Amino acid sequence: MVPSEGKIPVLEAEQRIQASLRILPAESVEMTACAGRILREPIAADRAYPPMDKICMDGIAIRFGDYSAGTREFRVIGIGKAGEEPIRSAGDGTCSEVMTGAPCPSGYDCVIPIEQVVYLGDFANVLPERSVRPGQNVHRMGSDCAAGRFLLSEGQRLNAARIAIAASVGMTSLKVTRRPVIRVIATGDEIVGPGKGPMPWQLRQSNAPALAAMMSGFASVETQWVRDDPDALRESIGWGLEGTDLFVLSGGVSAGKFDFVPAALESAGITRSFHKAAIRPGKPLWFGLTSDGRPVFGLPGNPVSFLICLRRFVLPLLHGMSGAAAPLRASRIRLGSEVNALPGQTHFLPVQCMRANDGGSIAVPCPTNGSGDFCGLGNSDGFVEIEPAPLTGSRPHRSPIVAGDSVPWFPWEG
Ligand code: AMP
Ligand code: MG
Repeated sequence: MVPSEGKIPVLEAEQRIQASLRILPAESVEMTACAGRILREPIAADRAYPPMDKICMDGIAIRFGDYSAGTREFRVIGIGKAGEEPIRSAGDGTCSEVMTGAPCPSGYDCVIPIEQVVYLGDFANVLPERSVRPGQNVHRMGSDCAAGRFLLSEGQRLNAARIAIAASVGMTSLKVTRRPVIRVIATGDEIVGPGKGPMPWQLRQSNAPALAAMMSGFASVETQWVRDDPDALRESIGWGLEGTDLFVLSGGVSAGKFDFVPAALESAGITRSFHKAAIRPGKPLWFGLTSDGRPVFGLPGNPVSFLICLRRFVLPLLHGMSGAAAPLRASRIRLGSEVNALPGQTHFLPVQCMRANDGGSIAVPCPTNGSGDFCGLGNSDGFVEIEPAPLTGSRPHRSPIVAGDSVPWFPWEG
């Protein structure tokens, strides 16, 4: 039997999830709170930039015509400071001291840097043997952009550079995508909440805090715990669907006697898109849609499986829902050691990102004790994706991926 039977390949899982994508509505947010949000309006220059002929070097402003006619000694008629209205030239053979950021005094068109000038009384002498070009050290009005030119576009994530542009053109609030509301239910009779002393057969809950950490900054996350009981689960699913943009359940999606999640979701009216994917870890992954098209994920409870499914499938959907123009795609990294591809299954392997001898990055697999072992994740930076081993004839076989091969890689933080 081919091991992938009944389970959909990773790309198909990804496509079915992405097909459910609907962009969330926008809201107006004060600009100081917009870092990391997705812009939903184009932003244009309110005026030409720079808005004046601007001095970009401390020195003296002269008329280039004087210099090319042989003048080297200029009478100083004043000083141009940043933040003050431009002074005017007083005619041939004169100059003004000017400071970086000041408007260029009208009538002058060239700035000699201060290091090339010697002052004698009211006169500034330009040192010989210097090459002087017309317009030098004057940042021409409108040379960066004309008024009305679009500087930012819809779908861009607001980082420091883009916030600086928005602030420069006078924006105080911006139209950005509303933060998604996510509800998470951690299922399991064995799970105890924080601060409680677990019995040896009980575990502290780590999946909901992991989800909240991965989504921190761009989603509002609320959590509940529910025991493995169909009635309690039904009630919790009602809570999980109330006013949420995305609903995630942890645990209870496998084939065990107390894995009630798939049936409970379907009886709550959620249409299953798929259950089980040809991936390791994460095989029991469940995905469906509410009648009004909102995504619902049932992720396996094992902490390593949960984290990997979250990063591989949930985070890219959330990214798309935010209206981001650039999709959250895997980048690639070189493997630092040989790994074995698995027959019929995509293998997600936690890795530590290290520096290779040539200065580039390599991914070194972190040993874990299986998908239930979170202890080995402490040094990991994310995971790599290893394609299933190809079939030879009708039989799958293990084929090694050698050190130095480039593979898709998913840092935990996206
Ligand atoms: P399940 O997918 O429900 O079969 O859970 C598999 C295993 O994952 C359980 O036996 C627990 O060891 C672990 N587990 C389940 N839920 C959580 C959780 N919320 N936090 C940490 N570990 C969990
Ligand atoms: Mg369970």
